[in-house]
Amino acid sequence: MKVAQADDRTGKAPLLAAENVSKTFHARRGGLGRKVAVAAVSQVNLQIDRGETFGMVGETGSGKSTVGRLLLALERPTSGQVRLDGRPIERFSRPELKKMRRRVQVVFQDPYESLNPYMTVEEILEEPFRIHGMYEGSGTAARIRRLLDLVGLPVTALTRSPGEFSGGQQQRIAIARALSLDADMLVADEPTAALDVSIQAQILNLLLDIQKEQHMAMLLISHNLLAVRHMSARLGVMYAGRIVEMGKAEDVYRTPKHPYTIALLSAIPVANPRRERARQRVAITGEAPDPAHLPTGCAFHPRCWLAEERCRVERPELREVGAPGQVVACHLAK
Ligand code: SF4
Repeated sequence: MKVAQADDRTGKAPLLAAENVSKTFHARRGGLGRKVAVAAVSQVNLQIDRGETFGMVGETGSGKSTVGRLLLALERPTSGQVRLDGRPIERFSRPELKKMRRRVQVVFQDPYESLNPYMTVEEILEEPFRIHGMYEGSGTAARIRRLLDLVGLPVTALTRSPGEFSGGQQQRIAIARALSLDADMLVADEPTAALDVSIQAQILNLLLDIQKEQHMAMLLISHNLLAVRHMSARLGVMYAGRIVEMGKAEDVYRTPKHPYTIALLSAIPVANPRRERARQRVAITGEAPDPAHLPTGCAFHPRCWLAEERCRVERPELREVGAPGQVVACHLAK
């Protein structure tokens, strides 16, 4: 698939882009067994514009979090490039990389793991300003108060430590820290997966409100299709380390083309009871493949109800099918 260094839609370089990015890990299987190559991500191309929310959906082990870590420069690609403002980040100097870390922030799944339990909330929120040499005494204190207000926490939170808060409140603290330096983009990696169901919608709505208010780009990584649909302008569906479908969220949801996307969407309950009873479901059988031993041809073929001989030997490439910009990796998609 061809990837333009400039965004075809705007003529400008996208804020962040992955260009034929692959990542292979070498892991020992079975205790002292020999090392095997694990293809976590293969040939991923995507672009995220300023102010845009891109949703990345897939099962556990599909490679979506590894894509997030590659875009954050927390991992180096085995091949391919990640570009910020059109420039390959592998050529960034240390100061440029530090500036990138200020511009592209992250919120992880488990807020408690990502917050230092020995620091107060005030110290946690001051830390990014100190790391980047931007601490300005009373100016920073005022900014921190505004951040707390933005994420719906009282000023009294400042003197307390993360362990004194609920999971949802801890995630609000983590979000406030990520927003402290006016990031251009937020990578939210399963930001609600560790939270009670009752809190999940609050945190997602908070992220959506902040993203709109600050016109910040966001990569939302989730296995929760409903959340991604609600929040994203465009989305990609990952399976076995590859994007198998990508396009505008409304197009992918209205007319999914890849059998895997069709099956994922059919598992989402519909609110209307009559429509829920009437609709057809497609159940996926079997397990997701082991990335160390991927099936030949289309990696989805052992689970695909439409698979034919060609699918077992020839890997489908992404091609435009359906709405403009909707790309699908399936031989049979029309
Ligand atoms: Fe199914 Fe074949 Fe399409 Fe793969 S290429 S999703 S096996 S029909």
